[in-house]
Amino acid sequence: MVHKLIILGSGCAGSTAAIYAARANLEPLVLEGHEPGGQLSLTTAVENYPGFPEGVQGPELVEMMKKQAERFGATYKLEVAKEADLSQRPFTIKTRENTYQTEALIIASGASARLLGLESERKLIGHGVSTCATCDGFFFRDKEVMVVGGGDTALEEAIFLTKFAKKVTVVHRRDQLRASKILCDRAHKNPKIDFLWDTVVSDILDAAKGEVTGVKLKNVKTGKEEPRSIEGVFIAIGHEPNTKIFEGQLEMEKGYVVLKNGSKTSVEGVFAAGDVHDTVYRQAVTAAGAGCRAAIDAERWLEAQDHK
Ligand code: NAP
Repeated sequence: MVHKLIILGSGCAGSTAAIYAARANLEPLVLEGHEPGGQLSLTTAVENYPGFPEGVQGPELVEMMKKQAERFGATYKLEVAKEADLSQRPFTIKTRENTYQTEALIIASGASARLLGLESERKLIGHGVSTCATCDGFFFRDKEVMVVGGGDTALEEAIFLTKFAKKVTVVHRRDQLRASKILCDRAHKNPKIDFLWDTVVSDILDAAKGEVTGVKLKNVKTGKEEPRSIEGVFIAIGHEPNTKIFEGQLEMEKGYVVLKNGSKTSVEGVFAAGDVHDTVYRQAVTAAGAGCRAAIDAERWLEAQDHK
């Protein structure tokens, strides 16, 4: 069977594309990916998505989008695309479970949390090291934790963690935050949050024990390194686009899919939406808008193929 349209990813971009494509009778198949619901499924309150004056919980918002797409005939599968062949049409997408063929493809596979690259970090992830305060904050009730990073995510995570943790230390490699003013103000006003400037985490202890007992901190200006006790480390230093399976097949820049002419990629019939291509806005609402755009472009392209 050849599908008309496969959508990779089930975040705001993927599900909005699915809503539009399903309403255009394209019966899209959505492969949900390794983080169903995308980044919003890992957040708490979303206060800037239009239409929700009191805010909405991220996981609730993406679940509603999914239900909306399913109502019009989209099919969601909890599968992760592991391989892609875009060299000929129909395109082939392989998951662990299945091999699919599709006439058109929308890549809305988002971006994943970036890590520091420490051996100890890799060993302790899930054992005191986390990339998601919403998922793991609860486990750090009355504990002292650290958040690494100086962007919006780091401050949002730090503020969220103060609901549970006794104290939250934000460790940033510079002496100026990258985060938006509103979040900086909130974090500075929060009595549970303090900051360590010009500092990087050079090691996380104690991989041998299988739990986080502390970190080694290095001041990047003085070069001085010192240990510090801590019970949890949240890494919030940005994201990497999930585009590995398309390397060498699509035009990309620093791993992000390059778009031309709306949502079109360098391969005809392949479209992209959301954080896989967006290095600037990266918002739920811009991802949703991009998903809409990709579905309309895919629909028009498929229509044009029928009349060839
Ligand atoms: P980001 O803006 O790229 O910030 C990443 C932070 O991590 C930066 O402060 C960076 O330091 C630091 N960093 C990067 N690599 C590092 C390393 N190896 N070691 C130590 N520190 C490192 O990423 P983000 O905070 O995830 O935000 C991504 C985008 O989403 C942004 O556009 C942001 O505005 C948006 N966002 C918005 C909201 C909201 O509006 N509520 C919430 C979350 C995210 P430098 O500053 O020195 O580069």
